[in-house]
Amino acid sequence: MSERLHVVTGCMFAGKTTELMLLGKREEFAGNNVMAFKPSNDTRSKEIMNHNGERLQAIQIDFQQPEQIFSYLGERISAVLIDEAQFFGSDLPNVVKVILRNGIRVYLAGLQNDFRHVGFGPMPTLLGMADKITVLYAVCTYDSDGKICGMEASRTKRLINGKYPSWDDPVILIGASESYAPRCANHHIVLNAPYKKLW
Ligand SMILES: [Zn+2]
Repeated sequence: MSERLHVVTGCMFAGKTTELMLLGKREEFAGNNVMAFKPSNDTRSKEIMNHNGERLQAIQIDFQQPEQIFSYLGERISAVLIDEAQFFGSDLPNVVKVILRNGIRVYLAGLQNDFRHVGFGPMPTLLGMADKITVLYAVCTYDSDGKICGMEASRTKRLINGKYPSWDDPVILIGASESYAPRCANHHIVLNAPYKKLW
């Protein structure tokens, strides 16, 4: 536990939250006090929950005001967990710097890239600040006539109302029927990408 900022990242369904919870448990095994936070626009629950249904109590923070975290901290806190960090705004890196400056370790999990495979919100900055980075991968579930691809997936496919996304679509959608799936680079499709083919 020598690292100060440890970022856990990757695509969706890669096990980021499970890894974050494990890191928190390690701190607790060592007798350290840990607090967990998540952004309030992740309305799934007031707990951090992984896809296996394991839970951890987490305090919800307004995603536009990550500095709210400060009011929960004190000398007895040794480590902070932050889940779904990609939803916080550009102020999160400075908030993390203040927490670290006060001698508290930060474990942070966040989606590395958006549906276009472009850095998501504050994640590129946070990855640049990290003392340790764990990148996790999922399995590509692209299905061709009943045969699953099975390659390592580093990307997240988003379908909106059953249609492939367009490069210009908003990164965060409200009220649409979305579905997500892990994809390898070969099977990640975004329409209208601004990169032209040369031949
Ligand atoms: Zn694939």
